[in-house]
Amino acid sequence: MGTPIKDVVISDNVPKTLLLQKHIEYIAAYGNKKDEYEYCMTEYLRMSGIYWGLTVMDLMNSLDKMDKDEVIEFVKSCQHDCGGIGASIGHDPHLLYTLSAIQILSLYDALDSINQDEVVKYISGLQQEDGSFTGDKWGEVDTRFSFCAVASLALLGKLSAINVDSTVDFILSCMNFDGGFGCRPGSESHSGQIYCCLGTLAILDRLHHVKADMLGWWLCERQLPSGGLNGRPEKLPDVCYSWWVLASLKIIGKIHWIDKTKLIRFILACQDDETGGFADRPGDMVDPFHTLFGITGLSLLGNNEVKPVNCVFCMPEEVIRKRGIRLNLL
Ligand SMILES: [Zn+2]
Repeated sequence: MGTPIKDVVISDNVPKTLLLQKHIEYIAAYGNKKDEYEYCMTEYLRMSGIYWGLTVMDLMNSLDKMDKDEVIEFVKSCQHDCGGIGASIGHDPHLLYTLSAIQILSLYDALDSINQDEVVKYISGLQQEDGSFTGDKWGEVDTRFSFCAVASLALLGKLSAINVDSTVDFILSCMNFDGGFGCRPGSESHSGQIYCCLGTLAILDRLHHVKADMLGWWLCERQLPSGGLNGRPEKLPDVCYSWWVLASLKIIGKIHWIDKTKLIRFILACQDDETGGFADRPGDMVDPFHTLFGITGLSLLGNNEVKPVNCVFCMPEEVIRKRGIRLNLL
C-alpha cells in the first residue's frame, strides 16, 4: 500500500499532432496585446518573456514575424551603467535577465548593440570567493545563477573573465548522494537545478565529474504513467519539465532511457487546439513559457517539423554553432 501516484489522466479528445501554425499565430499575436492585463502583469519578467517567444518562433522557422528593431531597442534600453540588464526599462539588473538579453541578441546576431565589456564586468563581479554567483548585488546565491553567468559569458566569448576552477568546485559541492544537484550545498535535488549544473559543467567541459548512470536513473524516475515528467518526487507532471529533465538526459547521453512515445503523447496533449500554445498540463491555460518548452521537448525527441534545439543553451543549434561554441556531451 504505497502512496497513490500524483498524475493526470489524458482524455481521448486531446490534440495528437503538432499544431505548428496555431502556435506561430499565438506567439505572433502575444506581443501585440500591449494594453492587456496579462501583458502588463508580466512586466517583471518581460526580458525572459521575449526570449521565450523569439526562441520558439525561431525554432518554428518564424523569427521574421517578430519586430527585430523594436526588440533590439528594448534590450538596449534595459542595460544599466553597471553593465547589468533588467527585466524591463527601469527595473534593477539581474543575471536572469542579463542571460535572456544576451540570448535574444544572439538570435539576431546583434550582440554589438549593447556594451559588451561592461556586461562582462557586471557578470564576473557577481562571482564569490567560493566560485558561486549571486543573482544581483543583493547577494542570493543559487546554482541557477552560475549557469546564467557561464552561459552568458560563453555566448559573449568571454569565459576567461571568471575563475573557471572555482565555478566548477562550487557546482560539484552541490552534488547530492543521488547524483542530482540542488541550489546550494545540501539542498535537495531538483531537475531545474540539475539542468543548470549540468549545463554549467558542459560549457566548462567538466562533465566527467557527473555520476551519469545514477543521475540518469533519478531523471528517468521523473516519468509518470501519463508519460509526463515531474520536477521531483511526489509532484504533478508539467511540460516545462520535459525540457529540464530531457535536456539533462541529453547532456549525459541517456535520453534513450525515457519512454519517448508516451512523453510525446503527453506534450501534444498539452496543446490548446483553439488558441494555439501549450499549457503545463492538458486542459490548463496556455502561456509562452510552456509553449517554448513544449516545442523544445518535441525537438529533442526528434520532431523534424521544428529546428534542432541545443540542449544546453535552449536556443537553435545553428545559433550556437555560429557563436563558435562546441560542447562535448557525454
Ligand atoms: Zn511548468
